[in-house]
Amino acid sequence: MQFVDLQAQQRRIRADVERRLLGVLDHGQYALGPEVAELETVLAARCQVAEVVTCSSGTEALALVFRALSIGPGDAVVLPAYTFVASAGAVALVGATPVFADVDPVTFNLDVVSAARTLEAARAAGLRPRALLAVDLFGLPADAPALRSVAEDAGVELLIDGAQSVGGAIDGRPVGGFGRATTTSFFPAKPLGCYGDGGAIFTDDSDLADVLRSIRVHGQGVDKYDNIRLGTNGRLDTVQAAVLLAKLEVFDDELAERQRVADRYAAALPAAVTPPTVPAGRRSAWCSYTIRTPRRDAVVDHLAQSGIPTIVYYRRALHQQPVFRGALTDPEGLPVSEQLTTEAVSIPNHPYLGEEQGRVVAAIEQALSTP
Ligand SMILES: *Cc1c(COP(=O)(O)O)cnc(C)c1O
Repeated sequence: MQFVDLQAQQRRIRADVERRLLGVLDHGQYALGPEVAELETVLAARCQVAEVVTCSSGTEALALVFRALSIGPGDAVVLPAYTFVASAGAVALVGATPVFADVDPVTFNLDVVSAARTLEAARAAGLRPRALLAVDLFGLPADAPALRSVAEDAGVELLIDGAQSVGGAIDGRPVGGFGRATTTSFFPAKPLGCYGDGGAIFTDDSDLADVLRSIRVHGQGVDKYDNIRLGTNGRLDTVQAAVLLAKLEVFDDELAERQRVADRYAAALPAAVTPPTVPAGRRSAWCSYTIRTPRRDAVVDHLAQSGIPTIVYYRRALHQQPVFRGALTDPEGLPVSEQLTTEAVSIPNHPYLGEEQGRVVAAIEQALSTP
C-alpha cells in the first residue's frame, strides 16, 4: 500500500502529461514559458484571486512574500509551533525572527488567543511584529476571519501558508483569497503537486504581485538586466507548469474522492481514536488524514507490521527543534503543540485508495484492541 499513490494518478493522466510535455519540447521556452502564464491564469480563476505568481517552491513562496513586504532583521513573524519547518525557516532566512504560538486542539491550526498573546510578547521583547503567518495544517483552512481581526488589532499583516490546502475553502470562498497573500507548494505529495519542486503566491494586491514578479527574476525592472531591487532566481519551470495543468484537469474529482475517503474513515474508525474535525463552513483539501490517539506509537508499529504506511509528520514542535532552540514563544507555553507531537499520526488517504481503506481501519482496530 502506498501512502500517496502518485503512480495510480499518473496512469490516469499520463497521455495528457505526455502531450503537454511534448508541447514544451516543441516550443523550447523552458523558463517562464506559456504554460507558466496559463497556469497562473487558471489558478487565479479557480482560487478567485486577482493575481497568482508561481515560483520554485513553497519555501521560496514564503521568502518572496517576506522580501516583498520588507520583512527582515528586527521584525517578528508569529506562527504556529506545530507545522512543517519551512514555515519558520523562511522567516529566519530573510533575517526576521519566528515567534511561536500554540495551535487549537480541535483543528490543529493557529490558536486565536495564543496568536494575540504571542504578538504582544514579541513586541514586549523589543521586536517589531510584522505578520501573523497562519498555516492551513493538513489541508484544513485556518480560521482566517478570526485571525484577520487579531492581525488588524496588532497592526500586522495576515499571511497564509497554504502549502497543504489548495482546494480547501471557507464559506465557499477558495483558499488563496485570505490574508494579504497566501503561499502554496507543488511538492509531489501535496494535494496539487508537480513532478519536482514548485510553488505559488496568491494575492488580490496587484502592486505586491508586481514586486513578487520582479524579485522572482533577480529584482528585474524592464527586464532581467535592469535590476531595481535585490532579487533571486525563484521561477517555476515550464515543464512543471505543464504537469500541473494536466493535474488540474482531474483535481476537482480528486478532491471529491479525498472527501469520500475522509467520510468513510469518520464513519468506520473505532471510537478510541479522534478523527479530524472540519468546522462548519470549512472545506479541507485533505492533504493528510491525521488522527489522534494516546496510543499513537502502538498504532504506528502495528500498521507497519501489517504493511500499512503511516507518517508522523511532526515528532517535534518547531521550538523543540535544535535549529529553533531558545526561540521566543507564547509566554503561557505551547501545550497543545507538544501533546500533538506524541498523539497525532497520518494514515493513507489519497484519492486512489479504494478497497484498501478497509484494511487500514481493521488494522487500527486490532492495534487498539490489544492492551
Ligand atoms: C510543504 C510545506 C512547505 C514548503 O514547501 P516546499 O515546496 O517543500 O518548499 C511550507 N509549509 C508547509 C506547511 C508545508 O507543508
